[in-house]
Amino acid sequence: MAIAVYPGSFDPATFGHLDVIKRASLVFDQVIVGVLYNSSKSPLFSVEERVNILEKATGDIPNVVIKKFEGLSVTFARESKAQVIVRGLRAVTDFEYELQMAQTNRVLAPDIDTFFVTTSLEYAYLSSTIMKEVAQYGGDLSRFAPPAITEQLMKRLRERNMLRTCPK
Ligand code: ADP
Repeated sequence: MAIAVYPGSFDPATFGHLDVIKRASLVFDQVIVGVLYNSSKSPLFSVEERVNILEKATGDIPNVVIKKFEGLSVTFARESKAQVIVRGLRAVTDFEYELQMAQTNRVLAPDIDTFFVTTSLEYAYLSSTIMKEVAQYGGDLSRFAPPAITEQLMKRLRERNMLRTCPK
């Protein structure tokens, strides 16, 4: 069975992430999305919330499982019995870092390969960070993520008093 892990922060997931998950699910028997718990970052959503958001957004894809993990992606891949790590590539700006990560992972775990999914053009600009920034200023989020996610994002920003208004 060909198993792939797709590790990331997903804070929160966007249409870009969902596109990578959907496409990977057509290639691999099972895709395990790994939501990174990173104690040095302060995400907007807890790891449990990020897992929950992704579970709901991918509920219609039977061979996708969402799990949280901490530490190295290669360790997560090994524990998941995966042969492949999937990452998304948007633009050249992603390339240098992703190549370095893939090469490092190859040194750490020569039996695990990294497969890159090039982003669909309509999501090439999109990241969780950009979505959060637009959300803070009240912009239209409909092309960034499904309503269930953008509604939860707006709720969180309101709770944290993080909504900004543009100066007139
Ligand atoms: P990380 O903190 O590991 O970069 P992210 O949640 O930002 O976690 O991204 C996880 C993966 O998804 C990365 O490989 C990233 O390049 C990819 N990705 C993010 N946004 C998009 C997008 N719009 N299209 C394709 N891939 C994307």
